[in-house]
Amino acid sequence: MVYELEEKLSKSMKALRINKTPADQYELATIPIPKAEGTKVLIKIGSAGLCHTDLVVLNGGFGGGLPLTGSHEPAGTIVELCDRALEINGGLKIGDRVVALFHQDLCGTCSDCKFGDWKYCSHSKYGGITTDGYFAEYALVEAKSCVIIPDSMSFEQAAPLTCAGVTAYTAIKKANLKPGQIIAISGLGAVGSLGVQMAKEIGLKVVAIDVRPEPIELVNSFELKPDLIINRYEGWEGVDVTLLVADPPASHSYGAAITRKHGTLILVSGPLQGIKLEFTDLLFKDLCLKGSLHGNAVDLKETIDLCSKSNTKSHIKKFHIEEHKKMLRETEKKESKGKIVVTF
Ligand SMILES: [Zn+2]
Ligand SMILES: [Zn+2]
Repeated sequence: MVYELEEKLSKSMKALRINKTPADQYELATIPIPKAEGTKVLIKIGSAGLCHTDLVVLNGGFGGGLPLTGSHEPAGTIVELCDRALEINGGLKIGDRVVALFHQDLCGTCSDCKFGDWKYCSHSKYGGITTDGYFAEYALVEAKSCVIIPDSMSFEQAAPLTCAGVTAYTAIKKANLKPGQIIAISGLGAVGSLGVQMAKEIGLKVVAIDVRPEPIELVNSFELKPDLIINRYEGWEGVDVTLLVADPPASHSYGAAITRKHGTLILVSGPLQGIKLEFTDLLFKDLCLKGSLHGNAVDLKETIDLCSKSNTKSHIKKFHIEEHKKMLRETEKKESKGKIVVTF
């Protein structure tokens, strides 16, 4: 049985496509609207975020699944779903406002899928990266990754929580700190600026680090401000856990320098040139280095709850789907800060 909106959907939709890589633009195309089937539900996208990873995809960095629609950060309204999807997530219904994770076509048989940690499934596809994503008027998402959002949360604020937000939240959770302990967040882009607010909300002391003036100005404007801001890689030490959210090697070695003996470094970014740490930091300071990948559906639900309760927000810049060229030009601006989202 398929449940769908009473008003009939048209058969085609606008989408921002990548047909070949490397590309310096998306192509605005008209393509068929997919059908909800099996474990997937169809959502009418309210807003979809642009993440640093999307620029890597445009550049051919993941090399798979072309042509595809960009974006891995969806928020929208459920317009079509089948019985199989309801067996998986019985709380869903037509008209629900949801966000979802970008994992698709999970194998269901590997040990990570079986034990519920399917973000590590090495057989799954990723919307906007290896299969169609969410810069489209409609898109498919897995029922198991859908989380209903409160009416008070706009789609524009909700979309970035599905990657930037849940990534920050999961890393903070992995830090396993108690209120009053100190976390440093090095890199104050979309992930770091949400992380600062979430860490403050749960009672941590927050050291925010970035060498760029614009992101510092941004985190300083939040209601949930950091306790200390550092704008160059020198001085200070004594942090319990440092989240490495930035790519430059200098930010990694500085992260190790400010972390106390027996403290922890959590790598959140994916620096293509690798990470730079001194062996002396790991040996003589007994630092532990961990990775933290994205999040699962429980993390996404907790992210939505925490952000809505604390009024944690991204600094949003909206671009209509027709303005996609202007949107990519915005990413080239040095003084650009906050989060870009597409509207329809
Ligand atoms: Zn992302
Ligand atoms: Zn699997």
